[in-house]
Amino acid sequence: MGMSKSSLAFLVLVFAFFVCYVMSSGSYDYFQFVQQWPPTNCILRTKCSKPRPLQNFTIHGLWPSNYSNPKMPSNCIGSRFNFTKVSPRLRSKLKISWPDVESGNDTKFWEGEWNKHGTCSERTLNQMQYFQRSHEMWNFHNITEILRNASIVPHATHTWKYSDIVSPIQTAIKRTPLLRCKPRPKSQTKSQPKSQAMSQLLHEVVLCFDYDALVIIDCNRTAGCWNNVDILFP
Ligand code: 5GP
Repeated sequence: MGMSKSSLAFLVLVFAFFVCYVMSSGSYDYFQFVQQWPPTNCILRTKCSKPRPLQNFTIHGLWPSNYSNPKMPSNCIGSRFNFTKVSPRLRSKLKISWPDVESGNDTKFWEGEWNKHGTCSERTLNQMQYFQRSHEMWNFHNITEILRNASIVPHATHTWKYSDIVSPIQTAIKRTPLLRCKPRPKSQTKSQPKSQAMSQLLHEVVLCFDYDALVIIDCNRTAGCWNNVDILFP
């Protein structure tokens, strides 16, 4: 006895709703914890919150990600950002670890990151936990210090190989990070020697964490810095 057409249609509809629900409420494999180098933001943007950008890596975001597409999921259904859910004590710490280095509006930056990324892992980390965990990761994995200890410090002209920068971080955290770069703006590369004109700017250092955002794991080398192009750490 076959299933009637209407029952089949009903089942298909239920399945479609289920898939939509899973996608919109966020299904992810691991976390990318992204720290950024503020001077690079300032070179790339006309707007910069401070005349002299901060000289330490700060948080860009904690992004639940999929191995098949690390830019997903995003903008999931979930609670909207509510800054009262983040304690005043934590908020004052985040002003140091997670400042808005572009417009200076920290709360708005946190709101954007929570709504775009945090909502997709809300079943693992609620708002307070999401920001708390990010701050702890930043505190525990001090990229600026790791690089400084390896004599990798900002310089106007000196360039590095990808492995020069990755190696000391790998040694310190015992896992492989991912570096992300941005092409140098044309205005910066005019009248430069060819070797420097071909360089890229170090922008972000990504550390990867397991599904629960507790255990650090190796990052896959996905879109990041160009291969075989020297890296400027401005
Ligand atoms: P995502 O939205 O994927 O988290 O990150 C990309 C966006 O974050 C970009 O539009 C970039 O301009 C923005 N972004 C990176 N750093 C900052 C910052 O310090 N402040 C603000 N307002 N946006 C930032």
